Amino acid sequence: MRAVAIIEKKRDGGEHTHEELEYFILGYTRGEIPDYQAAAWAMAVFFQGMTPRETADLTLVMAHSGQMLDLSDTVDIAVDKHSTGGVGDKTSLVVVPAVAAAGLPVGKMSGRGLGFSGGTLDKLESIPGYRTDLSVAEFKRQLRTVGAVLTGQSLDLAPADGKLYALRDVTGTVPSIPLIASSIMSKKLAAGAQAIVLDVKVGLGAFMPTLAKARELATLMVDIARHTGRRALALLSDMNQPLGRAVGNALEVREAIATLHGQGPEDFYEHCLTVAAYMLLLGGRVPDVETGRARIAEVIASGAAWQKFKDLVAAQGGDVAYVEHPERLPQARWVETVVADRDGYVAQVHARQVGETAVLLGAGREKKGDPIDHAVGIEVHVKVGQHVARGAPLFTVHANDAARLAQAKAALQAAVTWSDEPVPPLPLFYGVVGADAAGA
Ligand code: URA
Repeated sequence: MRAVAIIEKKRDGGEHTHEELEYFILGYTRGEIPDYQAAAWAMAVFFQGMTPRETADLTLVMAHSGQMLDLSDTVDIAVDKHSTGGVGDKTSLVVVPAVAAAGLPVGKMSGRGLGFSGGTLDKLESIPGYRTDLSVAEFKRQLRTVGAVLTGQSLDLAPADGKLYALRDVTGTVPSIPLIASSIMSKKLAAGAQAIVLDVKVGLGAFMPTLAKARELATLMVDIARHTGRRALALLSDMNQPLGRAVGNALEVREAIATLHGQGPEDFYEHCLTVAAYMLLLGGRVPDVETGRARIAEVIASGAAWQKFKDLVAAQGGDVAYVEHPERLPQARWVETVVADRDGYVAQVHARQVGETAVLLGAGREKKGDPIDHAVGIEVHVKVGQHVARGAPLFTVHANDAARLAQAKAALQAAVTWSDEPVPPLPLFYGVVGADAAGA
């Protein structure tokens, strides 16, 4: 087999065999196929697409490129969740402890932020001492004893995806449905998930800008799960405006803590109830989603979910004093407000522009490996549909650099679109894909 022939086949719209994918992807992972050939192939896939069978094969090849975690000796059913990435999406910080408190252990391996979209690991590292590099033995021990784990993918899981994702990020080949589906699902399979709740974001601050594209991605991932003997369902959720109020690492941890105390923003709390309820349903702990939502509301109201979060932080070496007194988490030097320069209905709070502004302040990375500033970020005070009076606060900007603060304030003013006529609020969810097949 020759790499160039495989590239040419995809360039001309051909369908790869399992053997071709194995040869190419494993060769690339081992360093035998160079970046430039893998980049050419990824671009060919971007334009020509892949059949569902090809995508399932690619997923399996990537999943088996490293260690395959088996959690059957640790939990009765390994339920996982995955968000395709968004702005203000701190859902895992709430749902992992809440689901665990409701009796379903969850061990989750999360990623870092990339571009305008934040990452759970960066958020958690706002807590001094918090370790995101647990070994397999530590992961399993904590899953058994605490029932909740939030760590990084420090293990040798799906190394092919790690390499390919980094290459796609700098070659304009991220927004390809088969490449995203195989990237996400290969990591979930390698991490031992038996049932997966996928949170597929749609809109201005998501990889999938339209509902049709998001549905296509969701359906493909649910099908891959079925082909590989797992159960999955996908929630199609709004990412036109930021989720909740906080965007930025320590700010998001504070908002997650408030939510675990029952004091979070309404939309974020609702989002967490739904995601967590579907996890309980797939894990066989509740008979239906409504019961799941009630169960999660209960563990939040009783303080059990908050206690589980503290146990998780302590188990991973984090200083619990910082989460008990979240004002001690990193604070920025300047905190300034952006106010409305007119009366009107909010027609848009552009999620991507808010996310990019948070990156400009230092909350995210321009490229992999850049340092980040945990203290900086944005609080968003308005939602689409709200009527706002001139002079009312739109955003609070937390900055550590005066020049960037000024730039951020201007960018945020431009992120809001106004209407003189009433505007309907945005839904939180647009639908669920695969609930029947997943037995939910
Ligand atoms: N998240 C992933 O893990 N992979 C992608 O390709 C896109 C989002």
